[in-house]
Amino acid sequence: MAKDVKCEVNNCMFWTEGNKCNADVIYVVSHTGHSAASKKETDCTTFQPSI
Ligand code: SF4
Repeated sequence: MAKDVKCEVNNCMFWTEGNKCNADVIYVVSHTGHSAASKKETDCTTFQPSI
């Protein structure tokens, strides 16, 4: 289990200073089913815009 999640998406409502994610849980999915060939094929679906 990850102790800390670092994230650069600073317009997410869970983002905090220092590139930290403040969400209790994040859910990451693949664009291509249940596996991915590269990090570009993954996304955090917990993202919610802060504005
Ligand atoms: S929920 Fe996802 S997109 Fe939002 S700050 Fe956390 S890791 Fe980043």
